[in-house]
Amino acid sequence: MIVNNTTGVGKSNIGQTIILQSTITCPLCQHEKQETMPTDACMYFYACEHCHQRLKPLQGDCCIFCSYGTVKCPPIQEVKPCCPIL
Ligand SMILES: [Zn+2]
Repeated sequence: MIVNNTTGVGKSNIGQTIILQSTITCPLCQHEKQETMPTDACMYFYACEHCHQRLKPLQGDCCIFCSYGTVKCPPIQEVKPCCPIL
């Protein structure tokens, strides 16, 4: 999976390029959907538009983009944990 670097990218405050476009692949029906990730929040639940299953992150992942997306969520790309791991 190749992400087009000319769109859907942002800059972190330390100058890193952050990719904001991620393609979610539903683990149940394999439906793919490109989504834009929020930079300031984790998306913990995601409803597949095809099978309408509500997806949750896999164990150890902070959001559904980390578990099912082609790109890790922006806080992970910035190498800082977005949510405290308990
Ligand atoms: Zn699905």
